[in-house]
Amino acid sequence: MLSERRAKIVATIGPALSSKENLKKAIEAGINVARLNFSHGSHEDHLFSIKTIKALSKELKAPVTILQDLQGPKIRVGRFPEGSIELTEGEVVSISHNYEEGSQGKIPTDFKNIEKVCKPGAKILMDDGLFELVVKEIKGDEVFCKVIYGGTLKDRKGINLPGLELPIDCLTEKDLKDLEFGLENNVDYVALSFVRTGNDIKILRDLINKKNPHIKIIAKIEMLEAIDNLEEIIELSDAVMVARGDLAIEIGHTHLPAMQKKIIALCNEMDRPVVTATQMLDSMVHNPRPTRAEVTDVANAVLDGSDALMLSAESATGDHPFKCISTMHEIIKEVEAGDGFFYYDISLDPDLVEGPEAIAASACLTAMKIDANAIVCLSTSGRTATLVSGFRPKARVISMTKIEDTLNALELPWGIQTFAIDTYNSTDEAIENVEEILVKYGLVSEGDKIVLTLGVPVLSGTKTNSIIVHTVTSKTAPLADNDLPLRCREKFKNEK
Ligand code: ATP
Ligand code: MG
Ligand code: MG
Repeated sequence: MLSERRAKIVATIGPALSSKENLKKAIEAGINVARLNFSHGSHEDHLFSIKTIKALSKELKAPVTILQDLQGPKIRVGRFPEGSIELTEGEVVSISHNYEEGSQGKIPTDFKNIEKVCKPGAKILMDDGLFELVVKEIKGDEVFCKVIYGGTLKDRKGINLPGLELPIDCLTEKDLKDLEFGLENNVDYVALSFVRTGNDIKILRDLINKKNPHIKIIAKIEMLEAIDNLEEIIELSDAVMVARGDLAIEIGHTHLPAMQKKIIALCNEMDRPVVTATQMLDSMVHNPRPTRAEVTDVANAVLDGSDALMLSAESATGDHPFKCISTMHEIIKEVEAGDGFFYYDISLDPDLVEGPEAIAASACLTAMKIDANAIVCLSTSGRTATLVSGFRPKARVISMTKIEDTLNALELPWGIQTFAIDTYNSTDEAIENVEEILVKYGLVSEGDKIVLTLGVPVLSGTKTNSIIVHTVTSKTAPLADNDLPLRCREKFKNEK
């Protein structure tokens, strides 16, 4: 059952997943969140993905959260007619903003002032730091560099100029246009790249609130300055991404593991879902099996407390996109079943928290004490379910509402499953409907215990203020496997 896995999978959509058939296979293999990277692909491509994923979510009864990732002020390599060039160690190549297209030895870039900021001796890194060049001289608008570590440099790969202060705005003109597109097409999350301060988040929040206020924000932590302002950024964001590609270059590779743990721990403490991203199964871009190091990295990211793990090129352009997703699924499931994973992370300290958080903690504690099968949160915003998820209960976390936007956006936080529920007119009716849905989907059976959180009186629109313990009495059999929502199917094969 796909829903047995608690940590979620984010997959970047790209050419390898660009047909309806492939998107369907990806959802069946286990993705929860589709990341549309606006550094690549056209609006037309992204619109096709959004529409197709939304249609498939309905068809398979498997909500998929849609995440729009804004490029931000990232410096990139331009295009090569062949798609790539070879960088040979020791050779001298040139970089310029004025090359229409690249060729062997000539690298175009979208960064207008490259010749102004680069000085002889400066280091230039490409493709998440894979290739290294050193600046030799600058002639007009051309920067001549010697290749220190080379390889095959593909189109549109990132360029990093470590140590150089760049005059950058978090939202470029392109980002604003892309954001407009995202808001119009009702994405669930917008991820902001190269966040430096809480103010960057506030600027984006204002833009979002003017048009589509339900859309949530993910802060991508990938700059040194963001590390200095981490608490403020996390506080103002709805979720966070440990964007390890650029982050590792900024802080130095050896600092990455500790920094990953620090960011995740802080997000856990501050109740913000956190995604660990970049190169999790990188060798699977070409190979059908991961390396031991990758298996261990995925496992450790789960143990660190990530809500979700992300696939980048592995799913966007790789040779084995479905195999990557199912491999990630298998590794996560194994870790969560093992001794190293601790459920019920509830503090009994008399710390002063707000009502909703106290209710969420109490629901988890109750579920632990009575060995409940599920914690069901009836809410319109999904806030209680997100808080409950933060306490990492062993019981299933289920969020129910009739609001489709809420259901779709809840696939990112750890462990949350979402189901639609019709309007109920009394507490009794709510309990009855919840039981019916869970029994029908085969998630509970007679004698199982459920912990419910809800606002009573139910018709007053009150925020969550109550916890109810309910024992299932229904003897009804679950639906046939094929009629179940995808992630509840017992016999569903996710191996491809
Ligand atoms: P970011 O810094 O936002 O992570 P990135 O360039 O590293 O940007 P990823 O999403 O991490 O991009 O994906 C890794 C690689 O997969 C990209 O460099 C690109 O070659 C490829 N890719 C991703 N999405 C697409 C797409 N929609 N179309 C074409 N290639 C894509
Ligand atoms: Mg990347
Ligand atoms: Mg990045």
